[in-house]
Amino acid sequence: MTTTRKAPMPQPVNPPARLLMGPGPITADPRVLRALSTPLVGQYDPWMTDTMNATQALYRGVFGTENDATVLVDGTSRAGIEAVLVSLLAPGDRVLVPVFGRFGHLLVEIASRAGAEVHTIETAWGQVFTPSAVERAIVATKPKVLAVVQGDTSTTMNQPLDELGAICARHGVLLYTDATATVGGNPLEVDAWGIDAVSAGLQKCLGGPSGSAPVSLSPRAVDVLAGRRSVEAGIREPGDDVSDDPIRSNYLDLGMILDYWGPRRLNHHTEAASMLYAAHECARILLEEGRDETIARHELAGRAMLTGVQALGLGVFGDVAHKMHNVVAVEIPDDVEGDAVRGSMLDDHGIEIGTSFGPLHGRVWRIGTMGYNARKDTVVTTLAALEHALRRAGHAVPHGGGVDAALDVYAGATP
Ligand SMILES: *Cc1c(COP(=O)(O)O)cnc(C)c1O
Repeated sequence: MTTTRKAPMPQPVNPPARLLMGPGPITADPRVLRALSTPLVGQYDPWMTDTMNATQALYRGVFGTENDATVLVDGTSRAGIEAVLVSLLAPGDRVLVPVFGRFGHLLVEIASRAGAEVHTIETAWGQVFTPSAVERAIVATKPKVLAVVQGDTSTTMNQPLDELGAICARHGVLLYTDATATVGGNPLEVDAWGIDAVSAGLQKCLGGPSGSAPVSLSPRAVDVLAGRRSVEAGIREPGDDVSDDPIRSNYLDLGMILDYWGPRRLNHHTEAASMLYAAHECARILLEEGRDETIARHELAGRAMLTGVQALGLGVFGDVAHKMHNVVAVEIPDDVEGDAVRGSMLDDHGIEIGTSFGPLHGRVWRIGTMGYNARKDTVVTTLAALEHALRRAGHAVPHGGGVDAALDVYAGATP
């Protein structure tokens, strides 16, 4: 008799307790985790469609827009980016991407794969572009779309967007921004700034897990989609005009996604109900606190962390005047090994801080203070642990300096 040995059943997932203080993902708000564990409901159940409508209204509030076309793309932030780019750009269309970090390169990569003719301007990591530099490039390249990251977590820079909408409008260009890392923690005014398309994710300042990408499109952007409209065979009805040059992705066709979220509820994917609940709760948390208040909380936590690391004698990378509120790039001292200190933060203190990409790899740690973790206690705990980990690695640091400096920032803040 032969016995077949069954592979041992893995244990159920039982994640360790961690304080996630990197550039994202961050520790999810417990309210979002509770929303994630609530029951599934069918996608055409009136309760579900009402909840989808309510989520659209919530994200209009988050983005500062009246755009009817405000929906969730099911997938991580990158799915939102790809949905916008593949939907707005037909093969051969020109797009201009100002690149100031890793995520600018990602926009280039995604737009190229969509078949667009991609033009770039670049600046050194740690810097942003002036509006006039962007306008000169627009005049030179005459793009259909300007695609720009708002906050690039790879460099911590926050590209000012407030003047770009008017420039784009003057030249008949659509303005798209990836606001994944900035929304909720830094000012973003989709309508007031004339932004035609914006995409985001939950795992930064919105305090949720990755896996849902809120997207909003202006009526001008929706008109562009209308020219390449698809309705799938099998659900098409008389009178449905179908383009012979459809958007080159089925899953990420924002026209079809809008038809699913719109009054016709044309079947596309099955809405990821649990992520919808999470996104709904993330937006509720933000709007309950208030958009301005949430941004102010991020500004304060970011300033306390910045002051704290500087008080530990550490340098900070980049043009601090244009730093995002919610992440700081801390220069790794020459006499320590960056990954060893990160390892001791994780193993000895249960705190995750970020490494970095490309030219900054091995040069800086990235420490985030975002979403649920943009708080005094998390800032202080992280600084105390960093001080300890640095000292243990042999680097001299002032006793308690980081914590005191951060507490002083909080003490001086107007509540
Ligand atoms: C973190 C981040 C993303 C993340 O994309 P995912 O697909 O959710 O991993 C995208 N864009 C920017 C600017 C980011 O900072």
